[in-house]
Amino acid sequence: ARKFFVGGNWKCNGTTEEVKKIVSTLNEAQVPSQDVVEVVVSPPFVFLPLVKSLLRHDFHVAAQNCWVKKGGAYTGEVSAEMLVNLGIPWVILGHSERRLILNESNEFVGDKVAYALEKGLKVIACVGETLEQRESGSTVDVVAAQTKAIAERVSNWAHVVLAYEPVWAIGTGKVASPAQAQEVHFELRKWLHANTSPEVAATTRIIYGGSVNGANCKELASQPDVDGFLVGGASLKLEFIDIIKSAE
Ligand code: 13P
Repeated sequence: ARKFFVGGNWKCNGTTEEVKKIVSTLNEAQVPSQDVVEVVVSPPFVFLPLVKSLLRHDFHVAAQNCWVKKGGAYTGEVSAEMLVNLGIPWVILGHSERRLILNESNEFVGDKVAYALEKGLKVIACVGETLEQRESGSTVDVVAAQTKAIAERVSNWAHVVLAYEPVWAIGTGKVASPAQAQEVHFELRKWLHANTSPEVAATTRIIYGGSVNGANCKELASQPDVDGFLVGGASLKLEFIDIIKSAE
């Protein structure tokens, strides 16, 4: 069975005071046990040590990105080695905001995933189509190509969570319907089955992201191939706790 996974992507938000407040709210929350749900929160780099030091120990932290290879003369970048050094277990890679705004290609994201895994990080690897791609009927081709660039570089999927985040649903309030999410998750699992192994397909968590909130999480969570969520806006609010609870 695949353990339910809920990630909170705080994106480029927060002050020290706000971060402390969110963490103390999370620390006080009554949520299902670690055997039922894996919870990971992802603050901006600068707050990672603070969040790690304050956060309850049954929740974990993720960075929102890292550099594609060993550190060095790469001004402004943060390496996978540095995250490991700080004891940060997870990293989000290939978020659509980085693919689209910062022009990260499928190959570059694949290289990042492979390098981060090699250094011992666990990876939330994001895929997803734009509205234009959905309307032209190429959703499955797009997410398959994004996944292929990862699969070509990664053989061990044990430390990978795949996040399906349709770009048209991110920050728009236009959540994918449970049927729309299930369809793409099913296709991704089928792709993994055909191109990696039946075991990888059966065990890899495929989580959904894009306008998930306290009101729509329950029905999405009930879909057979939806193994959790990557939450943006709502992860900064109290309803993140309701989303964690949708695991049971
Ligand atoms: P929203 O939940 O704000 O739509 O963002 C989703 C997302 O991009 C999570 O990575």
